[in-house]
Amino acid sequence: MEYEAIIGLEVHAQLLTASKIFCSCSTAFGADPNSHTCPVCTGQPGSLPVMNRKVVEFAIRMALATHCTIARRSLFARKNYFYPDLPKGYQISQYDLPLAEHGHVEILTDGRSRTIGIIRVHLEEDAGKLIHDEESMKDSHLSFVDFNRTGVPLIEIVSAPDMRTPQEAGDYLRTLSSILEYLEICDGKMEEGSLRCDANVSVRPRGESVFGTRAELKNMNSFRHVEKALDYEIKRQIDVLETGGEVVQETRLWDPHRSITVAMRGKEEAHDYRYFPDPDLVPVFVDDGWIKEIESRLPELPMERRKRFVASTRSPSMMQVS
Ligand code: ADP
Ligand code: MG
Ligand code: ZN
Repeated sequence: MEYEAIIGLEVHAQLLTASKIFCSCSTAFGADPNSHTCPVCTGQPGSLPVMNRKVVEFAIRMALATHCTIARRSLFARKNYFYPDLPKGYQISQYDLPLAEHGHVEILTDGRSRTIGIIRVHLEEDAGKLIHDEESMKDSHLSFVDFNRTGVPLIEIVSAPDMRTPQEAGDYLRTLSSILEYLEICDGKMEEGSLRCDANVSVRPRGESVFGTRAELKNMNSFRHVEKALDYEIKRQIDVLETGGEVVQETRLWDPHRSITVAMRGKEEAHDYRYFPDPDLVPVFVDDGWIKEIESRLPELPMERRKRFVASTRSPSMMQVS
């Protein structure tokens, strides 16, 4: 039987603001562990978050560049879970009312143009970083935690399930990365973790209209790895179906050394985050004037520039000049 893959990506981009999303600590990379921390970003009882206006501005830049509808009022929610890199026991994110929804991006793939839908763009804070290096593990079996990254601003960009091949997913990701760079809001580097991607993928018999069960792939830290992981996973799912099995909904990790995906947790073990509106933060209000002002300062984006260059090299006046 012939199969078709369905792919949707959840992309996290670290924003290049000078300070964190809810406190005035620096976001600079490479400082001594825990030197960029305060009561707010280490989750001390009684401390209160204060929204960084620049973060909203940066997110609006991306929302405009991806043709989203921007909510005049959006809300922060608490996503509750325990992990040692998350001192508050919850991550501040957006859930019911995200900053922006219903957009799209145009990508060039295999020489043709495709439009990929954007479901939402929302704001959230990053978690800290656990350090399990060989030195510390060998002598003391200890892990360390660095909270310099807690509270660094992120935007999450969720695509519609509009991609059909690993190459298309790779091209979409490279397009997002270059838009973020043109907007000067994220450096777009997957290798350094400032751009991260979870890839959702399912397969279905060609011609079928309902989607198959999807797996979510994590742990890919380059554009190439995303393509390779999807390639492997599509073949694996087809193989499962061809041998009479069923694909189960689960989270899988890409193992770059073995070039395979490995099951991490199933649907039953999926977290229940108990989202609820964060009572410490007021809603984010955005008015038309602010949006217009941000829009007026947007740079020319990669696709527009490309089209302008192609058009100008084809125009007769340019031919005469050259
Ligand atoms: P969750 O919050 O559980 O991750 P969402 O509904 O927000 O689920 O979807 C997350 C991502 O999964 C989106 O990018 C979406 O495009 C993609 N997706 C949803 N259904 C499928 C499917 N059947 N196959 C592939 N991707 C899918
Ligand atoms: Mg998901
Ligand atoms: Zn802080």
